[in-house]
Amino acid sequence: NGLIVVLHDITEQEKIDEERREFVANVSHELRTPLTTMRSYLEALADGAMDDAELAPRFLNTAQTETERMIRLVNALLQLSKLDSTDYQLSTTWVDFGRYFHRVIDRFEMTKSRNVTFKRLIPEESIGVEIDEDKITQVLDNIISNALKYSPEGGQVTFKLQVIGPNIEVSIRDEGMGIPKENVSRIFERFYRVDKARSRKLGGTGLGLAIAKEMIEAHKGQIWASSEEGKGTTVFFTLPYEPLQEDDWE
Ligand code: ADP
Repeated sequence: NGLIVVLHDITEQEKIDEERREFVANVSHELRTPLTTMRSYLEALADGAMDDAELAPRFLNTAQTETERMIRLVNALLQLSKLDSTDYQLSTTWVDFGRYFHRVIDRFEMTKSRNVTFKRLIPEESIGVEIDEDKITQVLDNIISNALKYSPEGGQVTFKLQVIGPNIEVSIRDEGMGIPKENVSRIFERFYRVDKARSRKLGGTGLGLAIAKEMIEAHKGQIWASSEEGKGTTVFFTLPYEPLQEDDWE
């Protein structure tokens, strides 16, 4: 029996080591790509493109875009490392989730540049939930920006809030191209993207949903997705909800 326990520990440790190696390799690769692009454009500028009135602004613009990509990536990595640290703590307050959800959606509705309509299925009664507002806002930002990025022109994004048993369930559904069945569960893994080139073009880091998952789990909730290719994707998450007992009312 002792032997089995030891074998089990080794396998667990090996798995962690392997994941760590893979993560470092991914990070290195993700950082090298924008750096090599920047280097070649800066080299071209130094080699004479700087004096070309048409090329110079284009090359500088590309170098800038790649710099911004790197900043986004490094910020996401810093966030992940904070989430991984053992003394990670939430700073929670009670919010009326329906009103809060409307506020987050309003911000997207006001700034959206695409022709996408929003549909809200949010109950009017107040639903008090204890959350770290900054963290859940980040989760919603990551999910909603994906829904918008992958929506077709004229598509609809549906925002839904429900109380189900001891939880609230939030879902965000789009009418985009969807995700192949065998890949749906993997989109919460670090650096996993169904289509690397497309994600890059849309400015993605491949870390948004991994960060969302850690934040939801820190709140003792769950996050998952369902998707149908060509039809659309829905991302769901739950958060614990404890309605006030009648005798809690003063
Ligand atoms: P990214 O920065 O690439 O968007 P995410 O972690 O946010 O990284 O998402 C991981 C991958 O999951 C994306 O690259 C994309 O392939 C897929 N994905 C996420 N949301 C959607 C969606 N709403 N529709 C289709 N694919 C999605």
